[in-house]
Amino acid sequence: MAHKPKIALYWCSSCGGCEESVVDLAEDILAVAEAAEIVFWPVALDAKYDDVARLDDGAITATLINGAIRLDEHVSMARLLRKKSRLLFAHGSCAHLGGVVGLGNFFTNEEILNRVYCDVPTVNNPDRVLPRPETRQGTTVLKLTGLHDMVRSLHQVVDVDYTIPGCPPPPALVKEAVMMVLEDRLPPKGSIVADTRALCYTCPRKETRPEMLEVPSFKRVYEIEWDPEQCFLNQGVVCMGPVTRGGCMAQCIQANMPCRGCFGPVDNVRDQGAKSASLLASLMESTDEEQLKKIVETIPDPGGLFYRYSLASSIMKGRVRRRP
Ligand code: SF4
Ligand code: SF4
Repeated sequence: MAHKPKIALYWCSSCGGCEESVVDLAEDILAVAEAAEIVFWPVALDAKYDDVARLDDGAITATLINGAIRLDEHVSMARLLRKKSRLLFAHGSCAHLGGVVGLGNFFTNEEILNRVYCDVPTVNNPDRVLPRPETRQGTTVLKLTGLHDMVRSLHQVVDVDYTIPGCPPPPALVKEAVMMVLEDRLPPKGSIVADTRALCYTCPRKETRPEMLEVPSFKRVYEIEWDPEQCFLNQGVVCMGPVTRGGCMAQCIQANMPCRGCFGPVDNVRDQGAKSASLLASLMESTDEEQLKKIVETIPDPGGLFYRYSLASSIMKGRVRRRP
């Protein structure tokens, strides 16, 4: 019997949602398991890192990596799996762009560790003990992998062949990516498994998208009496649909949530956050600077909104800080 193609899956700094997008293949996962051999998938199989290291270079047909890169372990696993795989997929927004995890780049490691391990109201840590790279207990030395100063996307660390966008990607796109490999119908290297156009082109509310914005202020969804037929921009709610790649079947819009940009920018846009700010600015009707300033001040959390998924791979990459 001919050897089956080998598939691997790995998670870096991940919430587990992208793993769910694989589990959500439901019975289709049986077809994948029938057609391919899943050789490494830490969330589901008890394979060890050494099992991967022992494989010949290029022995894995395709590896899907989800999650952002923020630990030494992520870098070494990404490099190892790159070496062992013929094809490498960035799976989900965190691997693609840094994702929500990348918002950590607005803060220092010290701020993040203090917040998570000491200051969250549900944590009881009066001695403010933080994780350390090395801890000694008698003669035993316990080591933790190193934490990086900045979160990075997968392509900032290794060469990536294809991207499955989304937070998490819809299972249909995960299936399409796997079938592309199994049926040997690969698109050009660098392709993103989704639409090439912005979400607005396939949005059920596109007919009501305004040419110009005449809103006196921006609001969050819960602050308005929403109209499920109207474009969010028309209702004074920021929607990232005009600057976000489509292919998600407008699932958030259909659930009455504005697009938050998880599919990343469309082709030829380098910085999704900057593009969003520029789009809103170009849509504003008023030319009165004072009025414009007041409207802009009503945009809720502009950094977190415009760069929710793409901060780590943006031009700034994070908060610009002066080195001491
Ligand atoms: S892309 Fe979204 S679902 Fe996937 S690991 Fe990141 S935060 Fe979780
Ligand atoms: S801005 Fe948002 S709600 Fe309006 S058409 Fe585009 S995706 Fe749809």
